[in-house]
Amino acid sequence: MRFVNYAGRLVLLHPDDGGALDGARGLDVERASHGLLPAAPEAAFDRWDEIVDWARGVDASGPYDLILHEPFLASPSPRPRQIFGVGLNYSDHSAETGMAAPELPLIFTKLGTSVTGPGGPIPISTDAVDWEVEVAVVIGRPARHATVDTAWEHVAGLTVAQDISERGIQMRPADTPQFGLGKSLPAFTPLGPALVTADALDDREDLALGCSLNGEERQSSRTSYLIFDVPHLIAYLSGITRLLPGDVILTGTPSGVGLAHDPQRFLRPGDELESWVEGIGSMRHSFVAEEQPREGGS
Ligand code: ZN
Repeated sequence: MRFVNYAGRLVLLHPDDGGALDGARGLDVERASHGLLPAAPEAAFDRWDEIVDWARGVDASGPYDLILHEPFLASPSPRPRQIFGVGLNYSDHSAETGMAAPELPLIFTKLGTSVTGPGGPIPISTDAVDWEVEVAVVIGRPARHATVDTAWEHVAGLTVAQDISERGIQMRPADTPQFGLGKSLPAFTPLGPALVTADALDDREDLALGCSLNGEERQSSRTSYLIFDVPHLIAYLSGITRLLPGDVILTGTPSGVGLAHDPQRFLRPGDELESWVEGIGSMRHSFVAEEQPREGGS
């Protein structure tokens, strides 16, 4: 099943409306459950099992009375308490950056203030902002010391992510790079459009993903090429910390980022970026010059 955050409310998508979400039919979870289930997507993950059970019982011929309008779609997990990223998790990407594939997951964290939805403008103020399409995992059941065998039981669903990265900030100082800061500027973690439960995907371990810039394909791969797959990431992270409902794990990006292009190509105002994952959907973002207020005038 597929859910969206529609103008701040959790909405179940009609099972037959699988493609573009503009015009798709939706059912407001709180209203349709007569107030038994929460309206706010950020509150949903604490009760995810109940929501999924309820959604299983919804009659597809019943009243899906919302007709979705894309600009109102927001991040499926709008206020994650923890956001994890994974560096160099596809061997073709580690090769293009000239770095060795890691022996353990290379984890960084992103700030919650960087989360945004699946559309709209992203402000940029430098000439070193790069794209990284990724599959993101949203946690449902809390996880502490999860095993590889049971890890999927902790997943609420999967969504599309961009791990937008300011390479100058990310790579400085050169001997101790600051990944978390360089990837946490405002709106640098777009998520969406839908949150799809793993059982609704043909093969949750092998999803095509990619992105295009101004219509030209830049990244294209499959999650079966991940060095550390979803179960291994959950087992590894939950062995260190407690994963909480609504937490987001960006699983890593394949090759094709602008940093590795010859010549290097970074995002510019006016660029249009489309990011997609098989079975989940597409996000479309435009980039605009950030207005930078200066203290004291000038
Ligand atoms: Zn990334």
